[in-house]
Amino acid sequence: MAPEESGTLASVDASLEESAAVALRFGTDPESGLGVAEVRRRQERFGPNELVEAPPEPTWVKVLRQFRDPLIYLLFVAIAVSVAAWALEGAHGWPYDALVIAAIVVANAVLGFVQEARAEHAVQALERMSATMSTVVRDGAQERVPSRDLVPGDLMVLGEGDAVGADARLLAATALQVSEASLTGESEAVRKQVEVLAEPAALGDRQNMVFQGTAVAQGVGRAVVTATGMHTEMGQIADLLLTTEEEPSPLQVEIGHIGRTLGLAVLVIAAVVTATVLLTAGVHTAQQAVTALLLGVSLAVAAVPEGLPTIISVVLALGVQRMAARNAIVKRLSSVETLGSASVICSDKTGTLTRGEMTLGRVVTALGGLTVTGAGYRPEGAVEYAGPGPEPPGLREQATELVGYGCLAGNATWGEVDGEWEIQGDPTEAAFLVARAKLGNGSAGADRYRRVGEVPFTSERKMMSVLVADAERGGRVSVVSKGAPDVLLDHCAWVQSGPDVVALDQAGRRRVLHEVEQLSADAFRTLGVAYRHLDGDQSPEPGVEVEHDLVLSGVVGIIDPPRPEAALAVADASRAGVRVLMITGDHPLTASRIARDLGVVDPAGRALRGTDLDELDDVGLREAVRRHSVYARVTPRHKQRIVDALQAEGHIVAMTGDGVNDAPALKSADIGVAMGRSGTEVSREAARMILADDNFATIVAAVREGRGIFSNIKKFLRYLLSSNVGEVLTVFLGVVLAGVVGLTAPAGGLAVPLLATQILWINLLTDSAPALAMGVDPESEDVMARPPRSRSDRVVDLTMWRGVVEVGLVMAAATLLTLDLMLPGGLVEGDSNLLHARTAAFTVLVLAQLFNALNARSETVSAFHGLFANRWLWAALGLSLLLQVAVVHLPFLNRAFTTTPLTVQEWLLCAGMASTVLWFVELRKLVLRRAGASRLGAGIPGEGSLTSDRGDTAPTPVQDPVQGQPG
Ligand code: ATP
Repeated sequence: MAPEESGTLASVDASLEESAAVALRFGTDPESGLGVAEVRRRQERFGPNELVEAPPEPTWVKVLRQFRDPLIYLLFVAIAVSVAAWALEGAHGWPYDALVIAAIVVANAVLGFVQEARAEHAVQALERMSATMSTVVRDGAQERVPSRDLVPGDLMVLGEGDAVGADARLLAATALQVSEASLTGESEAVRKQVEVLAEPAALGDRQNMVFQGTAVAQGVGRAVVTATGMHTEMGQIADLLLTTEEEPSPLQVEIGHIGRTLGLAVLVIAAVVTATVLLTAGVHTAQQAVTALLLGVSLAVAAVPEGLPTIISVVLALGVQRMAARNAIVKRLSSVETLGSASVICSDKTGTLTRGEMTLGRVVTALGGLTVTGAGYRPEGAVEYAGPGPEPPGLREQATELVGYGCLAGNATWGEVDGEWEIQGDPTEAAFLVARAKLGNGSAGADRYRRVGEVPFTSERKMMSVLVADAERGGRVSVVSKGAPDVLLDHCAWVQSGPDVVALDQAGRRRVLHEVEQLSADAFRTLGVAYRHLDGDQSPEPGVEVEHDLVLSGVVGIIDPPRPEAALAVADASRAGVRVLMITGDHPLTASRIARDLGVVDPAGRALRGTDLDELDDVGLREAVRRHSVYARVTPRHKQRIVDALQAEGHIVAMTGDGVNDAPALKSADIGVAMGRSGTEVSREAARMILADDNFATIVAAVREGRGIFSNIKKFLRYLLSSNVGEVLTVFLGVVLAGVVGLTAPAGGLAVPLLATQILWINLLTDSAPALAMGVDPESEDVMARPPRSRSDRVVDLTMWRGVVEVGLVMAAATLLTLDLMLPGGLVEGDSNLLHARTAAFTVLVLAQLFNALNARSETVSAFHGLFANRWLWAALGLSLLLQVAVVHLPFLNRAFTTTPLTVQEWLLCAGMASTVLWFVELRKLVLRRAGASRLGAGIPGEGSLTSDRGDTAPTPVQDPVQGQPG
């Protein structure tokens, strides 16, 4: 029966059926899987293998949601009030105020909608990039596909570290253990097998099934997919899981807080302004009352940076897209800011700091050593005797046998594809295959040995073994092992010496360890190879210990050169006050040597071993992480402890990992970093960031990007807050000091410096284009020249607040002075009417915002430094200026905004007055720079670099004694 005939997919319990029957029912060939055409047909029929989230919000709901904001309600009230006033006064002409406010409400909504859509788009793109993958067999070929493309009947291949992509019935399982904690809450991995169950069992006991959302902890298996999407067990409880909404990041929370505080303050000020106007200006007509009311409302609306959270999302989203282009896939927007404040990067060595392209370069046996030349996977290179005197007889034969055993105890494959030599599987294992070819023994043993069992490699055990039936020994079974030499030695009792096998005594062990140390000090990754011939031709029962009394065949040294860009990245990180820790399973001397080559500064000067860590309690470990930067022969469990110790020391930790057991450490690090190429699905799911190229340099690039984004957020916060404060102060002081600046009420009007529509206009202009352009400001060269931000640092600190208020005051002063200059009376005598003077003042305030955009790019660096670096900003400024010219010169906009054309001289006057904001801030920056320089001269950390964006209250975070010196 084809699946489509079986009604709902979950209707038959596959655990009660023979595996062959399940395959038959789903039309799956147990060897070659489904045909590609059939897969496509089923994809169409069953849809994507996804948990269906709440139905997507229709566009109109999204649009409407833009209006769901208390400030917008206020504007609606304002519209109603002004329409009412217009009607009461006889409904002459157009109700301009109401129309302008309505237009502004719509423009705000459009802006909000567009930005929200953009952010959403970016998040979706990221989800696609970090999607989980599954291995399937289709039309006989094995391939990796996004798990979302799985269909019922697909033949899945499971391996250690894979995330199970759909519910499936096992057809084969070897030492398969699956962690089902996500589904059943059971933390212990469940052993799986193929046999049919006698009776229906609870989820956790269906040992012949695997379920979506769980992870393969060990072993391998094959299974036929029985349910996808909402039909899976996970789908049944999906309602509980569909709370995937992104939590607001700490930054967004803080900004929200600032917005609310500011909003409250502004509401109070607006109320005071309105009351002052009503009380002092003598309100006689309904129109006057409405003007006062509208002024209050518009002030409140203009001064609250309500667009901030959205702009921040957009800026984060754009940053995340840029990071993705640089191979760093960040899964959550909020991780971007954490990345920017990372103070320690803990990195694996193999493949991340090194190239991960293994070449076997040395073979050492009891008879002597050979050097194997050549690099990479091409089988080109010579084999030379490495010792003094003539080459000992039998050395080559023993080396060839050793490398042959190494090949047997591995699962990699190697071959030529389109003229390129490529490997599949573990590069360490592939190195043996290449070396075997160089030794002239290409495919030896292919027919001789038949694999009958395997004890898999784990990072904890650091060795692996296979059981092979040897045709030349009459099918008798041998154990062949390879692993870290120091570990393997504990399992050996004998050593091969030419044709002889001799007992491995203490002196012999010391000799081997000495060889290993020499290889390690030369940066070789070392592996030992050993074997034991069993008597029978039966493979031992599962669970019977076979890795004992082995005969040590010898040791090999594998070259894994450091990535050239890694050294630069390490230097970059240390300049930025970010400590680099190397945590590896490799030999301590190899680790130390590679660390030295890469410039990783290890204050202690020697690697700390996993076994050393075991002896330390938590306090001792905290002490140790201060002094040690290189950790060797560690297991994933140690990684977790190192993360905890560093976090207890106040660090923000980025930690890399690739194996299944790295998942807990990846989860508890502030930024777990998984490997896109060599990492397991499980580690990728646990991580916050995925390195598409496995490259350490990419982590540092992402930190740089994170810092750049954070500093841009500070820039537009500085800009928006000072603009808003400027508007509030202008109106507030204008009303209070009306008499001083010569502001008197015109007939039928009120003595207010700016009108409601003008304030809303300024707000719309500044909140949109220039603020966004600032969010994509090119990162300044100095982002990596200062220590990382500490956890306690505020985004908007005291220095920034002080600057914001000062700039606001200057804006207000310039605007009101212009009003005074043009109006008769006041401090300076002028001869313009109120309409003219107000238009000029309005223009001054707009231009002041534009000048301020140039200021806001840095707290301390002159605006003239890299003045044209951000072309988006100039485009935004140009657009804003053009719009203001239109508002001043186009007749219909004159009516809408109560403006009148200005002369060229007046425009110049406005520009001159507005530019005082620029000159004032330049002066302020100069003073700050001087103060910074003298502080630096006095050796006081904190602001560190001249161009620091940090507040003056922040202490320097915990620093590496060597690396963390501020640039
Ligand atoms: P990193 O954590 O930096 O990636 P690593 O890859 O060296 O380090 P492990 O994979 O745990 O860490 O390897 C530790 C040791 O185990 C290696 O130094 C090597 O001696 C041995 N080893 C590595 N891969 C294998 C393998 N496939 N078979 C047998 N032994 C191996």
